[in-house]
Amino acid sequence: SEDCFKINPDYVRSFVFESKLMPSTWIVIRIDGCHFHRFSDVHEFNKPNDKQALDLMNLCAVAVLEEFQDIVFSYGVSDEYSFVLKKDSQLYQRQASKIVSAVVSFFSSVYVMKWKDVFQEKDLKYPPSFDGRAVCYPSNEILQDYLAWRQVDCHINNQYNTCFWSLVKLGKSKTEAQNYLKGTQAREKNELLLKEFGINYNTLPLMFRQGSSIFRVKTENTAMLESDASSIVKTETKIIREYCNIIEQSFWEAHPSILN
Ligand code: ATP
Ligand code: ATP
Ligand code: MG
Ligand code: MG
Ligand code: MG
Ligand code: MG
Repeated sequence: SEDCFKINPDYVRSFVFESKLMPSTWIVIRIDGCHFHRFSDVHEFNKPNDKQALDLMNLCAVAVLEEFQDIVFSYGVSDEYSFVLKKDSQLYQRQASKIVSAVVSFFSSVYVMKWKDVFQEKDLKYPPSFDGRAVCYPSNEILQDYLAWRQVDCHINNQYNTCFWSLVKLGKSKTEAQNYLKGTQAREKNELLLKEFGINYNTLPLMFRQGSSIFRVKTENTAMLESDASSIVKTETKIIREYCNIIEQSFWEAHPSILN
């Protein structure tokens, strides 16, 4: 009937609740693969670390930085990635649900599109999905603490998983391996790896131990002008990937443009 045209749009819109992220704070969008325990099983990821799967996550992150210019830094490990938006970003007027949904759906689409670039020999068996959340960090120090927390988590999980999968590959059941490792300290885990498996933890690939950092750097190119022999400085921004320690202050000192 014609009645549907009588609805007052202002009344309907009045129910929309826009949650805006606090102004002038770093926005971190953290995405995480949904049920990747299962996804990694079904797609037969190498355990504990499938390099190709991590490469794919990194390709997606580069694409996200290319798409969203306000992202200054990102850090990834396992099936998760954290994206840091600059403090004064006005992306979607800082509406949390808009930013999170745009980043997470873009990441998921790229993951599917680039799957075959990385896994030439493996079919994607079902559509992967990711969840996402937004958190604001009011100061550089707190943002750095957040990122350090993720990198510490990477280290602890990787050390545990390296022991766990070594024991499983030796023939122990998953429960036995779990019980064997219960309550062991970092030093004991490193000893176990060295004595039982001949693995020196500190020589494992940096990507596995430190996670991946993908960020923008400004490079200054000085070009000489032929006409008047004066030079101009052109600033270019490029996206780079490093497997580095981001807990130490020296990383942030070496890349002052990230947080400024
Ligand atoms: P949730 O939906 O709650 O996030 P989940 O199964 O994804 O559940 P996570 O805590 O996110 O649980 O852990 C991700 C799991 O995915 C890891 O435990 C690991 O088994 C697997 N995984 C992710 N990336 C890799 C990789 N590159 N190589 C091997 N396994 C991986
Ligand atoms: P925003 O990112 O702000 O949503 P938008 O370009 O997606 O910008 P919308 O208001 O969402 O703008 O409108 C979607 C547009 O996509 C439509 O204006 C139309 O041009 C196009 N579009 C979407 N679906 C169809 C369709 N089935 N057939 C033709 N055009 C379509
Ligand atoms: Mg999760
Ligand atoms: Mg997950
Ligand atoms: Mg995870
Ligand atoms: Mg639209």
